[in-house]
Amino acid sequence: MADGTGNFKVIIAGGSIVGLALANALDRAGIDFIVLEKREIAPHLGASISMLCHNSRVYEQLGLVDVINNATVPLVDRHHFNKDGYMFEDGGVLKGIGDKTKRYFRFMERRFYLETLYNNLRDKSKVHANVGVKSFIQRDDGVTVITDNGERFEGSILVGADGVHSTVRRIMAQNVAEMDPERAHNLISPFWANYRSIFGTSRNLNRRTQGLFMPNGMVHVAYHRGFSGVSATGVDGLVFWFLFVKEDAPSRTPDCPRYDDRDAERTIEKYGLFNLGPDYTFRDLWDSKVKAAMFPMEEGVVQGPWNNGGRVVLIGDSTMKSTVNPGLGGNTNIEGVCYFANELVQLLAQSPKPANDEIKEMFDKYEKKQRPHAELCVKVSGFQTRYEAMETWWTRLLIHIMRWLPNNLMSTLLAKHFASAPLLNFLPDPEV
Ligand SMILES: Cc1cc2nc3c(=O)[nH]c(=O)nc-3n(C[C@H](O)[C@H](O)[C@H](O)COP(=O)(O)OP(=O)(O)OC[C@H]3O[C@@H](n4cnc5c(N)ncnc54)[C@H](O)[C@@H]3O)c2cc1C
Repeated sequence: MADGTGNFKVIIAGGSIVGLALANALDRAGIDFIVLEKREIAPHLGASISMLCHNSRVYEQLGLVDVINNATVPLVDRHHFNKDGYMFEDGGVLKGIGDKTKRYFRFMERRFYLETLYNNLRDKSKVHANVGVKSFIQRDDGVTVITDNGERFEGSILVGADGVHSTVRRIMAQNVAEMDPERAHNLISPFWANYRSIFGTSRNLNRRTQGLFMPNGMVHVAYHRGFSGVSATGVDGLVFWFLFVKEDAPSRTPDCPRYDDRDAERTIEKYGLFNLGPDYTFRDLWDSKVKAAMFPMEEGVVQGPWNNGGRVVLIGDSTMKSTVNPGLGGNTNIEGVCYFANELVQLLAQSPKPANDEIKEMFDKYEKKQRPHAELCVKVSGFQTRYEAMETWWTRLLIHIMRWLPNNLMSTLLAKHFASAPLLNFLPDPEV
């Protein structure tokens, strides 16, 4: 029996956004699971994350949304600035989407988001922090996971929610390297980085001017040639911000650079004096920071299948990476969690001890549903990164055209798009 008791058990590698969201979904579905997380749960890196309206509906189903809404302020304004800090557009699209869907965009500290997912689990002993997946052995009736401290965990399936540098994906590649070197290469090197980003969390008090950077509920976007910036106040007293910079040369996983604090400081030395908002610069935000770091922004979707033909499957950033500008990656991955959990619940209702081929079929169904979302997310996000960094003459032209598009039309189209996102089918629908 897979876990020694005969119950179906999911081993999740990675206890971040997708691993913990999946754990919550399985918890509610009554499916046994464990989470193995290489590092601590909810580390403080200075990063932030959004909850968009479609994700909000899923978190209502999971009983998480009130905690998030009570700790955040809704984002309702988005102002766009040129390189001189002149506001050329004050779009009402965010408010429009919020009014139409009754769910406003939220933006918060990533560690708070992760803590909220973790705290919502009924049995926290199922989450093992500081335990990394090192390898796995697949059998006909289950999978054994071996950790970096030599422990062994038995399960029915292994789900690799272990991010852009996924160990599970790397082992899948090693296992097919001789038979199918092309697939192995794609599993090892699926993403390119053309841009890098500094992300930071700062106090909402400009040390230079002693004024607020921006009022609560506000997003600023700054357009410069070859770089851009976004800042947002989704939590009282804090500003979450980003500096996006085009790299001199693209890099490819697994060889994308790993940046340290010195690299981030050098980037601030070069771009710090430019405006992000009307009367503050990237340097002002850097000087008021609580925490900040720099990383390459990988982009791409892993070629299929996202499973090994047996009992191992990928989910989240191990399947796709998108640039950060529109804040879509994590939200799109939650759609993947819904598709995955829905398919698994359905399979186990029909076949409580599914055979390998039934599991493989279920993995394929999940991928077929999620792949178009992942591809769209990577495309839209990549476009927005290049648009805000005014990469070409036609993106520069488009910026001037976009400001004339009616807010109501934009928010209607986007609200319609978000309404088509999946929910967890086995839980009651959220209120309309
Ligand atoms: C700075 C920044 C800001 C972002 N902002 C937004 C936003 O506003 N909105 C949005 O929708 N998306 C945003 N994203 C994207 C979003 O964060 C990702 O899509 C999301 O984190 C993916 O979650 P994940 O759980 O798949 O991967 P990750 O969050 O990368 O987590 C992978 C986890 O696996 C663990 N792990 C790795 N190897 C192993 C192993 N061998 N064994 C066990 N555990 C392992 C890691 O420690 C990590 O905790 C942002 C990304 C960044 C970098």
